[in-house]
Amino acid sequence: MLRLLKTACVGKLSRKIGAQSFSAAALAKPNQNPEVLYTGIFINNEWHKSKSGKTFPTINPATEKTIAEIQEGGKEDIEIAIKAARNAFEMGSPWRRMDASERGELLYCLASLMERDQAYLASLETLDNGKPYTMSYNVDLPMSIKNLRYFAGWADKNHGKTIPMDGPYFNYTRHEPVGVCAQIIPWNFPILMMAWKLGPALATGNTIILKPAEQTSLTALYIAQLVKEAGFPEGVVNVVPGKGPTGAILSNHLDVDKVAFTGSTEVGKLIQQASAQSNLKRVTLELGGKSPNIILADSDMDYAVETSHFGLFFNMGQCCCAGSRTFVEDKIYDEFVERSAERAKKRTVGNPFDSNIEQGPQIDNEQMTKILGLIDTGKKQGAKLVAGGNRYKDMPGYFVEPTVFADVKDDMTIAREEIFGPVQQLIRFKNLDEVIKRANASEYGLAAAVFTKNIDKANYLIQGLRAGTVWVNTYNALAAQSPFGGYKMSGHGRENGEYALQNYTEVKSVIVKVNEKSS
Ligand code: NAP
Ligand code: MG
Repeated sequence: MLRLLKTACVGKLSRKIGAQSFSAAALAKPNQNPEVLYTGIFINNEWHKSKSGKTFPTINPATEKTIAEIQEGGKEDIEIAIKAARNAFEMGSPWRRMDASERGELLYCLASLMERDQAYLASLETLDNGKPYTMSYNVDLPMSIKNLRYFAGWADKNHGKTIPMDGPYFNYTRHEPVGVCAQIIPWNFPILMMAWKLGPALATGNTIILKPAEQTSLTALYIAQLVKEAGFPEGVVNVVPGKGPTGAILSNHLDVDKVAFTGSTEVGKLIQQASAQSNLKRVTLELGGKSPNIILADSDMDYAVETSHFGLFFNMGQCCCAGSRTFVEDKIYDEFVERSAERAKKRTVGNPFDSNIEQGPQIDNEQMTKILGLIDTGKKQGAKLVAGGNRYKDMPGYFVEPTVFADVKDDMTIAREEIFGPVQQLIRFKNLDEVIKRANASEYGLAAAVFTKNIDKANYLIQGLRAGTVWVNTYNALAAQSPFGGYKMSGHGRENGEYALQNYTEVKSVIVKVNEKSS
C-alpha cells in the first residue's frame, strides 16, 4: 500500500500547472491572471454548491475588482461537513485504520503537490491577498511546504509512555486524536496558516472542517483539491468558505471536538465562550499582539533600524507578531527616528506582482479605514508623524503609506491597540527595569525582541519579558520546528514544533492489571 501511494504521488508531481517549473533559488515568473479553478464547498472530497444558493465575492485588494464569486457555506452546509468529518473519524474508517506512517506519507505528498504548483499557488495568493509575489513565492509557500513535511515526519513518532505506577498494574499512555476539529484561519497568511493548522491535526489523526477567511478563500480551496489528489480519504479534510455566522456555528456545535482559531482577541473570546456554553470543546487561540521591540544603545544601528523596519512593515504590517512598539534607548533615540523615517520613505509600494515591490495593499477597505483612523488618533493625541500618514489616493487599491510616529507615549491609543498596518511607533526609554515593566504593560504577550551586543543585558530582558517568543538580534524568525503562541490575551496553545501535537491529542492512560502469578 505504501509503495503504491508513493508511486502515485511521484506520478502526480510530473504534472505542472502552466509551463513554469521552478527551483527554490529562482523566482518563477508570476501569472497575474491565474485561472480560478475552485470556488465551491469541499466536503467528502467533492465540490458542492451552497444549499442556500448564496455566494459572496472575493476581491483583489490591489485593484478593488471582484475576482470570483465563492459559494457561501451556511448552517446546512456546515451540518453536512461536520457529519462527513465525524464519519471519517469513526472507528473502522479508512482514516482510523490507516498506519500512522501512512498518514505521514499523505501529508508528505500534499507538501510535494504544493511544491509542484508553487508558482500557481503563489500567484493566486497574491491576487486574492495583495501580498508581494516575491513573498508568496519565496516565503509563504516554502514555509508551508516545510511545515507539512515537518509534521509528516511526526505522524509515527508521537508515542506515549510506560509509567511505573504503584500496584500490580501495567500503565501506559496513548496519544489519541481529539476528533472533529474546526479550524478558522485568517487572511494575512492564508496558505501558511492553513499549513500550520493541517499539519499537526492530520499527523495526529484528526478530521477537519476548515473555514478560510472571507477575504481569502481561493488558495484554501485549491489546496483542498490537492488534498484529494494526494489521496486523503473522503471526509478527512473539508473546507467550508463563508462569511457571517459560519465560524460561530462551528464554535457552538455539539459535535465539534475542538476549535483552533487565529484572528482577533475579540473573536477569540467569543469562541472560548461558545465552547463553555456548548460542549467544552478544546480551544486553541492565536490572537492579537502589540509586541515590544527593544533597541539598546550598543546595538548595530544600521542593522537594528533595518530589522525593526522589517519587523513592523513585513506583510503590510498585517502580522500578529509585528514589532509595533519599538522601544529605543534614549542615547540613540533621535538618530534612530531619523533613520527609521528615511527607511520608511524608501519603501517601494505598488503592484504586488512587480518583483521590485516591498509593499502591496492592505487586505480590504475595512482594515485600511481602521488603520487610517488610528493614524489620525495618533496625530490628535500628540505623536509626531515623521513619515507617511495617508492613503495613496491617486491609484486604486487599499494602499497606505509606510508611516512612522516618533514621541509616542505608552498611554496613546497607537501604543496600546493593534493597528495591523504599516505604522511604526518609536518610543523612548532609559533603563532595563523600566523598559521591562513598560513592555509588559500590555494585555498582549505574543512576541518581543531585543537588540544588543551585551549578553548579560539580553539574558536579563529574555527572562523579564512576558511573551511566547523572544527574538534576540533578529525579528520574525519563524520555522516549523519552533513553537509559536501567546501569553495573556494573545491566546493559548502553541503552533509548530512538537508542542503543537499536544493541542491535537488527548492522553489516554491505560491501566492493565498484571497477574502476579505465572499461571
Ligand atoms: P476576526 O474578526 O478576528 O476574524 C474573522 C474570522 O472569525 C472569520 O473567519 C469569522 O468567520 C470568524 N468569526 C467571527 N465571529 C465568530 C464567532 N463568534 N465564532 C467563531 N468564529 C467567528 O478578523 P478580522 O475582522 O478579519 O480582523 C479584525 C482584526 O483582527 C484585525 O484588525 C487584526 O487586528 C486582527 N487579526 C489578527 C490576525 C492574527 O494573525 N492574529 C489575523 C487577522 C486579523 P465568519 O465570517 O464565518 O463568522
Ligand atoms: Mg481577496
